[in-house]
Amino acid sequence: MPQFPFLHAPRLSFRSGVVAGPGWALLPSAAGCFDPLLSTGFPLTLLGVSRLAEALEGDWNAR
Ligand SMILES: Cc1cc2nc3c(=O)[nH]c(=O)nc-3n(C[C@H](O)[C@H](O)[C@H](O)COP(=O)(O)OP(=O)(O)OC[C@H]3O[C@@H](n4cnc5c(N)ncnc54)[C@H](O)[C@@H]3O)c2cc1C
Repeated sequence: MPQFPFLHAPRLSFRSGVVAGPGWALLPSAAGCFDPLLSTGFPLTLLGVSRLAEALEGDWNAR
């Protein structure tokens, strides 16, 4: 039993204009997406988390 009616979404891809600023950063899937159905979104998200953790680790006491 469908929980929602089917809908036609002609354009799913997007790219955010700004992806980081002072004290914040978007994760990859919020920053942009080409095609979620054929994506590697989970690995890219984990790679983004890993890169953010490296940036924080290396820069934690810089401010
Ligand atoms: C249809 C579809 C199929 C996909 N298939 C695959 C696949 O097969 N393989 C793959 O690797 N990737 C796939 N992806 C991509 C994958 O789902 C994403 O890359 C991944 O879920 C991103 O993780 P995330 O934690 O960044 O964001 P999300 O999983 O989107 O998590 C964000 C969370 O934040 C919550 N949230 C949003 N706004 C607020 C707010 N203001 N306050 C509190 N909570 C909020 C949302 O409810 C959500 O739970 C698919 C995506 C879609 C849409």
